[in-house]
Amino acid sequence: MSNIRYPDLAPAGLKKIEWVREFMPVLNFIEQRFLAEKPFDGLRIAVSVHAEAKTAYLAAVLRSGGAEVYVTGCNPLSTKDDICAALDALGFEVFGRHGCTPEEYEEDLVSVLSCKPHVMLDDGGDLTQLLHGNYPHLAENLIAGCEETTTGIHRLRSRAREGALNFPMFLVNDAKCKTLFDNIHGTGQSTWDGIMYATNNMVTAKTVVVAGYGHCGRGIAARAKGLGANVIVTEIDPHCCLSAAMDGHRVMAMEDAAPLGDIFITATGCKGVITRKHMERMKNNVILANAGHFDVEISKPDLEALSAHVEERKPFIRGYYTRDGRVLNLMADGRLVNIVAGNGHPAEIMDLSFSIQALTMEYVVKNRNNLKEPRLHNVPAEIDNEVARLKLEAMGLGIDTLTEEQAKYLDLY
Ligand code: NAD
Ligand code: SAH
Repeated sequence: MSNIRYPDLAPAGLKKIEWVREFMPVLNFIEQRFLAEKPFDGLRIAVSVHAEAKTAYLAAVLRSGGAEVYVTGCNPLSTKDDICAALDALGFEVFGRHGCTPEEYEEDLVSVLSCKPHVMLDDGGDLTQLLHGNYPHLAENLIAGCEETTTGIHRLRSRAREGALNFPMFLVNDAKCKTLFDNIHGTGQSTWDGIMYATNNMVTAKTVVVAGYGHCGRGIAARAKGLGANVIVTEIDPHCCLSAAMDGHRVMAMEDAAPLGDIFITATGCKGVITRKHMERMKNNVILANAGHFDVEISKPDLEALSAHVEERKPFIRGYYTRDGRVLNLMADGRLVNIVAGNGHPAEIMDLSFSIQALTMEYVVKNRNNLKEPRLHNVPAEIDNEVARLKLEAMGLGIDTLTEEQAKYLDLY
């Protein structure tokens, strides 16, 4: 039995799913093949990704392949109640409530796992954590899982290093078709979508400080530059610093950037990136937003400690009024600004990420006999290449092929 809040919102949710479906041509293609081949017949799939329209369409594609699909979100604030209502109306088992408490969030994750899935899709590692913690028995049918994001992969790698991984996991985030487009361009666009919609402020001529110049950070910085901002990058990795400098950004330590920035965006996957010592030096009315994992990159306890008064100023913007007379504006409760204050990555981007997910899940069930060892796997290159080729085809873009002579020439190197 599903657990959702507003079943009446189903018609609005269904329209949103129909909309994104039309911009996800590779998934459309996979859906048709799955309908014919039914690779997941008789199997259960647990999905914990942002409960948003594109995820709903992924669930429909997996069901077209014969799976029974159980869906929940991966962040209480990104869960969209209308999409959960639509999924319920479409007959999925869905457990998702926008803004639920941490206890309710865990309850929903456990409800999804209670189907004892054969395959699971995790985004950030919360399902994986439960299956290694209090609920190992719910993994008894699990062939393998797939992880969607960078921080989930960090968590998996440390688990594997400690010899504490109980089942095979596929590192979907690391597929080229995921990282190169989702993390860079998806986060690049949708972070600004969320910030601009919620603040309704100008970006041009502002000083934007981007913490982290990895995949997400470089996408965010590039879009900021395109919007006319002066961009400052802060990093801990010398190569990333150099790369930011050579891309035309200013590079400095956060301590030096703090008094200069108008908008601060963290995208590091680290914690305590912006803390009290930085906040104390910031200008009045700065915007603080996070696009990395969880809500620990900008220290909320430090904001609280500095403040005489805290107030919701606008949807997705909380003002921390400091004792020295400034206000620091925290967006989206310090959680992913792009998917809490916005709708997350565009459909065209999630077409790539979710096509990789769908084909990796198919690979998992087809290769179940070779997946007995609990270890980490990369997405097979054939899947990564196939998705890229299908996307190029859908976009009507041409590609050259090597002649036999050229292929031999390249082999010389
Ligand atoms: P990445 O590893 O490519 O980049 C992270 C960068 O941050 C690295 O260059 C690292 O050197 C730097 N860094 C680490 N700690 C730092 C610190 N204290 N100060 C400054 N820089 C620091 O990772 P990524 O793929 O860019 O992902 C970053 C985070 O964003 C992860 O938590 C990931 O899960 C999340 N993510 C969010 C979205 C989204 O939709 N908002 C999409 C993809 C990934
Ligand atoms: N549970 C973590 C999840 C990190 S989210 C947290 O809430 O902090 C980062 C992932 O969200 C990215 O890897 C990206 O693939 C995914 N994402 C971004 N936009 C999305 C969308 N519109 N629908 C579903 N997933 C999305």
